[in-house]
Amino acid sequence: MRDTNFLIENNAKHVWHPMANPGEMRENPPHIIEYGEGVEIIDIHGHRLLDGVGGLWNVNLGYSCEPVKAAIIAQLQKLPYYNAFRGTTNSPLIELSYELCQFFKPEGMARTFLTSGGSDSVETCLRLARQYHRANGQPERTKFFSLKKGYHGTHFGGASVNGNANFRRNYEPMLGGVHHLPAPFTYRNQFETEDGAVIAKKIAAIFEEEIAFQGADTIAALIMEPVLGSGGVIVPHETFFPLMREICDRHGILLIADEVITGFGRTGSESGSRLWGIKPDMMSTAKGISNGYFPLGAAMISEKLVDAFESTKGALGTISHGYTYSGHPIGAAAALATIAEVKRLDIAGNAATLGVELLSGLQALKAKYEIVGDARGKGLMAALELVSDREKKTPADKAVVQALYDAAYEAGVMVRTSGSNVIISPCLAIGTEHVNRILSALDTGLAAATSALNTR
Ligand code: PMP
Repeated sequence: MRDTNFLIENNAKHVWHPMANPGEMRENPPHIIEYGEGVEIIDIHGHRLLDGVGGLWNVNLGYSCEPVKAAIIAQLQKLPYYNAFRGTTNSPLIELSYELCQFFKPEGMARTFLTSGGSDSVETCLRLARQYHRANGQPERTKFFSLKKGYHGTHFGGASVNGNANFRRNYEPMLGGVHHLPAPFTYRNQFETEDGAVIAKKIAAIFEEEIAFQGADTIAALIMEPVLGSGGVIVPHETFFPLMREICDRHGILLIADEVITGFGRTGSESGSRLWGIKPDMMSTAKGISNGYFPLGAAMISEKLVDAFESTKGALGTISHGYTYSGHPIGAAAALATIAEVKRLDIAGNAATLGVELLSGLQALKAKYEIVGDARGKGLMAALELVSDREKKTPADKAVVQALYDAAYEAGVMVRTSGSNVIISPCLAIGTEHVNRILSALDTGLAAATSALNTR
């Protein structure tokens, strides 16, 4: 292996990183992660960290999941790749599709369309939504609704329904016919209340009003994350999803649940849709599907859509969409082993139990540190929002958030920062001792952030 200096130098020289400013990264170079073991990672200098990020909300079973590694190796020996376009298929793909439909049976899922990741899965759902309406004799239903602060990946469709201007501005114009509703966010919203049930009703009313204005017969689908992840772990009130489901049903609008983060246990339920007790029409999944060991995603399609496609002959019913890696046998083998482990270890149950411990610890930190404006989470996805003025909810600046990150890193816990949010999304196979390590490092980090704020 090349020496450390070579790697640092050439990362700066040759690598452009996702979601990063290349020039600024030169001044603040990334940590080079060399090993993963259990639920920990080790950087190139040998510094060991508990991974509070879980890879990127995806390494749910940790870094030493032998059944998944073995499945990948075995499939690599047998059939490393073959395409699944029309004329051919492969056995891991078939088996995985069967398992996924079983796993998401309570959500009403009946078909799978495999992809290479979350953005692909979102794009697939958006396209299939439009095509469904065409095949169903309603070709004018083309518009999409989504939530402000929602995140749906980086393809043009997904970025168009994205609810954060930062992900859109440099790439406009986006897809036409996309409308954003307010986020169901208790801490920051336009409604001057922190009552989640009231907020849910107000957003539902805005949706109704907008449907009446646009015309229901022009709207294809509403896409939402069951818990908004990248937007800062925004947990809607329990009435929100059922309310929106009912409105969609009444107006013939499809509901796409973007479960890229929430699928496979993260919220403490097998899916975010199950958590809220609703059945979406489609689900975009990825991340935890293969434990992050292979780039994979799946668009899940409910029974409701099946007939429009399967009984429509010719171009109108043909899915003229797909990826070289749709149905990759190694990805499918990895996912099959992952899902078996998720079930065997009751990963969702563990996330539910430890999520309660994590959230109560975060709330204690909020009580201890004035700099914490909000502590929120569901299962093992959580966030602390840092503020420089609690009363005014002024977001803390970059240097303050960075001070927390650096101190937590030093204390042996990797966390992720996004704006003024500190996001916690550890592997789901953790125990109480790991939650305590995360909380203790955050305690250290918050002390550092507080002194950074006070010495400005
Ligand atoms: N949807 C959601 C809800 C996501 O969180 C993400 C990724 N964080 C995506 C879509 C895009 O997934 P990917 O990065 O795998 O393309």
